[in-house]
Amino acid sequence: MTTKIIVAGPRGKMGSEAIEMIRETEGFELVACLDRKGSDVGDKILDVPVFHDPETCFTEVDADILVDLTTPQVGYAHTEAAIKHHIRPVVGTSGFTNDQITELKKLAKEHNVSGIIAPNFAVGAVLLMKFSQLAAKYFPDVEIIEKHHDQKLDAPSGTAMKTADMITQVREPKKQGHPDEKETLAGARGGDVEGVRVHSVRLPGLVAHEEVIFGGKGQIFTLKHDSMNRGSFMDGIKLSIEEVLKKDELIYGLENIL
Ligand code: NAP
Repeated sequence: MTTKIIVAGPRGKMGSEAIEMIRETEGFELVACLDRKGSDVGDKILDVPVFHDPETCFTEVDADILVDLTTPQVGYAHTEAAIKHHIRPVVGTSGFTNDQITELKKLAKEHNVSGIIAPNFAVGAVLLMKFSQLAAKYFPDVEIIEKHHDQKLDAPSGTAMKTADMITQVREPKKQGHPDEKETLAGARGGDVEGVRVHSVRLPGLVAHEEVIFGGKGQIFTLKHDSMNRGSFMDGIKLSIEEVLKKDELIYGLENIL
């Protein structure tokens, strides 16, 4: 059986990798693209219809999956529309709020549509989150440093927030550092997720990197993952496309299908 796929954000760095992966994968077929420049793109690489408007795209095209790799605002609108048209979303776009994820899960349930939203499709990064949750049981003092290219719109990264959330599920809320510590430079201690400090670095040359540093008596334990290029996310997107076809709900996080 062929899985018919629409890609939103086809000319982006992630979107173009995803198109390559789809074309190389037996049983996957790219059937359309959603692009803000619409059919004006006229790109030879996009030898499929290109739509500007998601409603028109989802009405006219027979598709099983929407792969969204755009920006938080437009990605949310695409995902909402796809669910209403019974097209399963596989969303890599990061920066959705917890409320938005809850809303989309509810909508998917109402429409009986499965899908996945994953802030990180790199299998290694998902293992980093899982291992961090395990380590936090024994090392409750922990800080996260995430580093990304300087074109990233959201901070901290969805992966860092998800890592912090997973850590807070296994440890009590805890104020870290000296009880009387004061920031002499605003933001120096990073963001605070129930006491877990999260720091974001943005520089050209970086791709997507995360370090989770645990401190204990006389020891430091560090977990680290580096995505060297966007190819690192494609195995996770491919797996997600295959797996959501067998699911009956909107899943948040690749770790829930690994
Ligand atoms: P990118 O190269 O900047 O691509 C973004 C794409 O979104 C482009 O095709 C862009 O179109 C499109 N876009 C931007 N604003 C739009 C709008 N208002 N309406 C319609 N389309 C719009 O970024 P990227 O590195 O590919 O990343 C794309 C998304 O994936 C981001 O949210 C990023 O954080 C996320 N990401 C996720 C993972 C993961 O594993 N889940 C990994 C890496 C990145 P134009 O070509 O017209 O600008």
